[in-house]
Amino acid sequence: MSKSLFADMILGEKNGAPIYRMFVGGEWIDGDSGEHFEVVNPEDGKVVALVPSGSIENASKAMDAAYLARKEMEFMSPVKRSEILAKAAALFAEHQEEVVQRIVVETGKPVTDAHGEVSAAIKRLQYAAEEAKSIKGETIPGGTISDKGVNQTALLVRKPLGVILGITPFNYPCFIPMSKIAPALAAGNTVVIKPASSNPTAVLYLGKFLEEAGLPAGAYNVVTGGGKELGSYLASHPKVNMISFTGSSKVGNEIAHQAGKVKLHLELGGKCPSLVSQNADLDVAAKESVKGALKFSGQRCDALSRFLVEEKVYDKFVKNILSEVKKWKVGEIQDKETECGPLINEAALMKVLDLIDDAVTKGAKVLYGKEIKEGSLLMHPVVLVDVTTKMRIAWEETFGPVLSIIKVKDFDEAIAIANASEYGLDSSVFTQDVDEAMYAANHLESGTVQINAAPAHGLGNFPFGGDEESGMGREGIGYSVQDMTKVHSIVFNPKK
Ligand code: NAP
Repeated sequence: MSKSLFADMILGEKNGAPIYRMFVGGEWIDGDSGEHFEVVNPEDGKVVALVPSGSIENASKAMDAAYLARKEMEFMSPVKRSEILAKAAALFAEHQEEVVQRIVVETGKPVTDAHGEVSAAIKRLQYAAEEAKSIKGETIPGGTISDKGVNQTALLVRKPLGVILGITPFNYPCFIPMSKIAPALAAGNTVVIKPASSNPTAVLYLGKFLEEAGLPAGAYNVVTGGGKELGSYLASHPKVNMISFTGSSKVGNEIAHQAGKVKLHLELGGKCPSLVSQNADLDVAAKESVKGALKFSGQRCDALSRFLVEEKVYDKFVKNILSEVKKWKVGEIQDKETECGPLINEAALMKVLDLIDDAVTKGAKVLYGKEIKEGSLLMHPVVLVDVTTKMRIAWEETFGPVLSIIKVKDFDEAIAIANASEYGLDSSVFTQDVDEAMYAANHLESGTVQINAAPAHGLGNFPFGGDEESGMGREGIGYSVQDMTKVHSIVFNPKK
């Protein structure tokens, strides 16, 4: 670790684990309580960081700082904002290995996936630097309703909202916060981030890059600590203008109730279906379905977790799935070949096992799977067949490496089961018949429908988001800036 750059971000160390500080009002602070919580490596249970248990007072100071800095950010020239973000992206690129390693040891994410996440986050920041310069308004001529206003002209100027609160989940501890922070700053807002407590340090590094790049004090703040207390305090704070939350539907709904009259962007849970038609290329369908199910051990909102397969091709599809699943390398997180590592914690593992038990009790069969070693969170992929809609696993978010395969009589039944879910985030449709693809795409109730591919956020070039219990609003390059700005109307009323 380059001491000179990160020195004031780290207070010291305990038994080899760095003790971090929070970033509030442009200062690296230890937190009023003086207490720290432990961050553990899901692979071996070792403590890999100590992070301040932020107090309500710290959270309040972060809000005040963001509120104070908002005018400076609003009236900073777009080109200056762009330069700061581009410089931060360059610094991030230079020091990316530090952040990759933090993600690996705090999240249990295989190193190759962590590299992918960090490089996507850097690109997102670079795109935001460009977007800062391309925010534009429009004009409306008068006289469109009556002759009277014929000399009027309205200028519609896009203004930042003010203070944006980001509350983020464990599964993408760098990319998801970046998808909020980068467009928020590009649009001239200020930001307070409350990261997941399992892996909160990536956003602290980002604070360092932004600070070094010249972002004004208070424009970016990170408060660490428990979501229940801190998160709900922040979410109901009167100085917040918009909350951008990514996490479970349960917490998202709580935030929506607490928030009051602020703009909300909610990226919540999912139960994404893969619809496999008798007209599908079954090799593509199996390969993409397995990728969609197993990447990061299924700990993704957009994980494919129920496979609705037409009975004519069911046996062949299952055979293909089995041969694909066996190719996935499960193992140590620092091994570059590893594709599936441990789950985030014991509770997550127990939830997945409980869903499998429920399904097996109700008649599902485990076609593939391996015993979990005592004390380990490493879970091999599981293939469940003969799954029915009576089983919880057909409806509840699994967040684990499980493929639940349901036989359907026809494609309409597949669409009906897909739409019966309370979630509506992503769907994948596998068919070679373009009419069928279009029909399914038009009838599926999810934010995105992928034709012949697994769901993927990508870098945000396509808008991403869900409906119903999967949330509201769309995130993406351009879309987020639009969402994080408001229209300010200036009407000219010339005498002549
Ligand atoms: P989570 O338990 O809902 O936590 C998310 C964040 O909310 C964390 O920072 C957490 O802090 C905080 N929090 C917890 N209770 C809170 C409260 N009462 N008020 C305010 N904030 C509170 O989610 P997770 O387990 O980290 O992440 C997995 C979930 O995120 C899954 O459901 C997944 O589908 C969803 N997700 C959705 C998307 C999407 O784009 N739709 C993307 C990724 C993940 P602590 O960590 O301190 O508890």
